[in-house]
Amino acid sequence: MHAQPYVGRFAPTPSGHLHFGSLVAALASYLDARHHHGSWLVRVEDLDQPRVVSGATDHILRTLECYGLEWDGDIVYQSQRIELYETVLAQWLANGKAYYCDCSRQQIAAYGGVYPGTCRTRGLTSAADRAVRVRVPNTVMGFVDRLQGPMEQALESEVGDIAVRRRDGVIAYQLAVVADDIHQGVTDVVRGADLLDSTPRQLWLYHLFQQPAPRYLHVPLIMRPDGEKLSKRLGSAPLEPSLAAATLWRALAALRQSPPARLRGAGVRELLAWAVKHWRVESIPPKPHLLESSV
Ligand code: GLU
Repeated sequence: MHAQPYVGRFAPTPSGHLHFGSLVAALASYLDARHHHGSWLVRVEDLDQPRVVSGATDHILRTLECYGLEWDGDIVYQSQRIELYETVLAQWLANGKAYYCDCSRQQIAAYGGVYPGTCRTRGLTSAADRAVRVRVPNTVMGFVDRLQGPMEQALESEVGDIAVRRRDGVIAYQLAVVADDIHQGVTDVVRGADLLDSTPRQLWLYHLFQQPAPRYLHVPLIMRPDGEKLSKRLGSAPLEPSLAAATLWRALAALRQSPPARLRGAGVRELLAWAVKHWRVESIPPKPHLLESSV
C-alpha cells in the first residue's frame, strides 16, 4: 500500500458510448478507490479528435452518474492540455531522449510491430509529417500487476522506440496518459487488460519523468458469447439508464463480487455501498470473462 492517499481514475476515450465492458472497468476502478477511502477522478482522453464522436463525452458522464459512480473534482480534458505535452516533447527532443521519425505507415507495418530505431541516428529536424519517438534502452521492464501477477517486456526487442507524437501531430496516448497520471497524483491505475501491453512503455516514460509509477490492476476484458471482445466497434448496445441496477448487478457478477440475495432488486446506491465495503480483488477472474448473453 502506498503511504500517500489513494488516488484512482477512470480515463475514457469519447469515441463512442459507454458499453458494458467499459462499465466493468470503471466500476472496478471506482470500487478499488472507494474501498481504500481514496479519491476517484475522471479524465476524458479526447486527443485523437478524428475518433471523438460528438455527444459521446456527455453520454459517458451521464451514464456514470446514473450508475452512482460519482467522481471527485473537476473533469480533466486532454484536449485542453496539449501545451503541456508539447513542452515535455520539446525537452526530450532537446536532451536527446526523443527524436523525429519520418518512417511511413508501410515501413512501420513492414517492421512487424517493433520499431527498429531506423531514424534514431538520422538527426532529422522538426518538419510537417514527422513523428516523435522516445528511445528505449536494451532493458527488461517489469512490474507486478495486482491481479495478473508479474509481467515483463524487453523494451528494445519487444516494444521498440515509443511513438509519443504521431505524424499527423496528435499527441500519443502513451505520453498523455503518463503525463496526466503524474500531474493528477494518481497512485493506482485500474483499467482493462487490453492495456497490459502498454504498461512497460508507460513505465519507461515514468522513468524519464523521474517519477514513481503507480500500482496497476488490469481487470479482465468482457467477451461476447461468440468470444469476440466487447467493444464500441462491435456495436454493443449503449447502457439503458432504466436498467441501471440490474446492469450493475451483472457488472459486479463479471468481477465475481457476489452481493447477497437480499440485495436483488436493490437500487444502485445500495448495491454500490455493499460493493465498496466488500470489494475483493482476489475474487476477480484474471482471464477474459465470457458473457452468458448479449448486453
Ligand atoms: N483512454 C483509454 C481507453 O479508453 C484508457 C486509458 C487508461 O486507462 O490508461 O482505452
